[in-house]
Amino acid sequence: MVFTRHSMTASDRLRAEIDLGALRQNVRFLRSVARGANLMSVVKANAYGHGVGPVVETLLDEGVRHFAVATLDEGIALRERGVGAFILVLAAPLPSDLPGYAQHNLAVTISSAFAADAVRAYATPDSPLTVHVEVDTGMHRIGVRPAEAPSVLRRLRAAPGVTVDGLMTHFATTDAVHATCQMDRFDALVAACGEGRVPHVHVANSEALLGIPRASEGRSLVRVGGALYGLIRDQLGEQGAAALRPVMRFVTRVVHLQTIAAGEAVSYGRTWIAEHPTRIATLAVGYGDGLPRALSNRGVVGVGERLVPIVGRVCMDMTMVSLGRPSGPGAKVGVGDDAVLWGAGGASVLDVADLLKTTPYTLPCGLSGRVRRVFRHGVPDDVHL
Ligand SMILES: *Cc1c(COP(=O)(O)O)cnc(C)c1O
Repeated sequence: MVFTRHSMTASDRLRAEIDLGALRQNVRFLRSVARGANLMSVVKANAYGHGVGPVVETLLDEGVRHFAVATLDEGIALRERGVGAFILVLAAPLPSDLPGYAQHNLAVTISSAFAADAVRAYATPDSPLTVHVEVDTGMHRIGVRPAEAPSVLRRLRAAPGVTVDGLMTHFATTDAVHATCQMDRFDALVAACGEGRVPHVHVANSEALLGIPRASEGRSLVRVGGALYGLIRDQLGEQGAAALRPVMRFVTRVVHLQTIAAGEAVSYGRTWIAEHPTRIATLAVGYGDGLPRALSNRGVVGVGERLVPIVGRVCMDMTMVSLGRPSGPGAKVGVGDDAVLWGAGGASVLDVADLLKTTPYTLPCGLSGRVRRVFRHGVPDDVHL
């Protein structure tokens, strides 16, 4: 696999530290709770913003043999990195994309009867396609309608050049009542199609793996994304603590310091006004890097072993925090000091997401191309389960 090395002179004013040891630990923990199902690791969107190259290399080293990506392009990018393992593309396939799937040996998600017809029309013994049939049991995003699934499966099985390798569905919610209803529909179909005739059957995403035993029991695969990266709040560790480790730490640095007088305002729109003389630190991060602008006057940042508030609006490239009174503990902060946006030393990514009333997935996924990933190859501690 190919890694891009950054020039030694590149600025380190902003970085996402990726703890590959924590990733390994999460893989081992998730395996231990998967009831014998193998992990299909979801590495779409640049491994949820964590950097797909080193993430996939680490997962391969941990013995992961099944991967899922969102798009044909993401699948091709993995093949071009030399990844030979099984890769399922979760997108609804466009008929014009099918040659790309065949050329790169990427498994197709059958998202409708229309997609099934396109696959049957394209595939030949010389240009074969492997497919997983997604059944829409209630998400209403993509998937074959349950009533059509038996005939879709029958016709795909009869088509030369098509291998039906999997049958899957996706939860709209992990609310037990609705998820049970989805699984009842799905399992009725699996039974009708002849149990054991499809090599892989999978339904669980991260939350379902951790919260709904039936979603992984007796299934050959579970599709886990968020949990791999520690983006799920769980209470499965000792004494109800989280067992999953956060993998990303998002860190910038102080680039400017000043003291402003009572009554002076900070940033665009003058939305924050100092009530007393205040030490203000300017940080080298903004919404152009993926720091949500909604954190303006709301977020907290870890600076000098304290959590300090973001004051005024988050700008495109810079963000200001209040260090408090000039004589307070903030006086020790200097230009160049680290400022943690999420991760150890700052707020957790889960808490930042709660504050914004969003899913934690959006935060690492939202980092822009300006943010450098720095990979740490920690050896995991012993996992006690
Ligand atoms: C993204 C995705 C997943 C992974 O979900 P997580 O919540 O990240 O585990 C699984 N299945 C499908 C169809 C997806 O699109």
